Amino acid sequence: MQTFNCRILVGTSCNKTAELMSLICSYCNKPITGEYIILGDKKYHTSCFKDHIELKCGICHQGINGNYLHDEWGNNVCAHHNARYCDSCSKIITTNNTRPVNGRYYCQSCTAISVNSSVHTASVYQNILKTYNRYGIQQVPANVPVHIVDAKALAAKSSSLSTPDLLGLAVTGSKWSNFSPVKTFTHDIYILGGLPVPEFESVLAHELLHTWLNQYEVKMNEAEIEGFCNLGSYLVLTIAATKHAQMLMKKIKEDPGEIYGAGFRKMLAEVKQKGWLKFLTDVKARK
Ligand SMILES: [Zn+2]
Ligand SMILES: [Zn+2]
Ligand SMILES: [Zn+2]
Ligand SMILES: [Zn+2]
Repeated sequence: MQTFNCRILVGTSCNKTAELMSLICSYCNKPITGEYIILGDKKYHTSCFKDHIELKCGICHQGINGNYLHDEWGNNVCAHHNARYCDSCSKIITTNNTRPVNGRYYCQSCTAISVNSSVHTASVYQNILKTYNRYGIQQVPANVPVHIVDAKALAAKSSSLSTPDLLGLAVTGSKWSNFSPVKTFTHDIYILGGLPVPEFESVLAHELLHTWLNQYEVKMNEAEIEGFCNLGSYLVLTIAATKHAQMLMKKIKEDPGEIYGAGFRKMLAEVKQKGWLKFLTDVKARK
């Protein structure tokens, strides 16, 4: 988290000093007399400052003077409110009732579109399959049960993984049929309850690519696997093309981790070099 600083000072001048010191308002370019505002190396008429320059706090709605937080949605709040950033869209949370949902904090707009049951998952699932078809990612399992679970249940399912902020998980089982040399696969996807729709879609896209890789029995290292699955999130977020989707893409792209972050950057570079079809053929050949 980055804290910014905005210190304003107040000065006064008479006609004479305004002329002598060429005291000019940095907003309207007219001479300043009387009380004026100093911000950094700039000076403003008090009214120009109040109406056009002053940052307003999104919580107390007063002008900001001192340390403050800023988000990429254009919101600013005084630092002393100890506000949090939304764990999904990175907006500053300006409401008071910020109780975590499954360990994550959400802003009002994300709370309004949270996915808390499997009821509305079908259309999101279909959208993802459509996107995958468009990019040549064929035969992605189409009827995988998507279970919306709480943090405890998700952690229990992922006992072998040690990811602190796990949002989803794909579990694949396989067995040989009795009378034919065909292996059948069963998949289940578990997703943390409370994710806002764009993030839910991103996580489901990621987990569906796990089922795809499992089904093709692709052998790659962990960074390649997670990086590949993150490509799925990246695709659906690119198509969503909203500010929220952009913020989620930024997290994926700038993730400093060696598995998810570096893995993603490596796989994306490979896609850019080879194009999707050649890339997918090469991935499927990694047995
Ligand atoms: Zn002015
Ligand atoms: Zn404030
Ligand atoms: Zn949010
Ligand atoms: Zn994964």
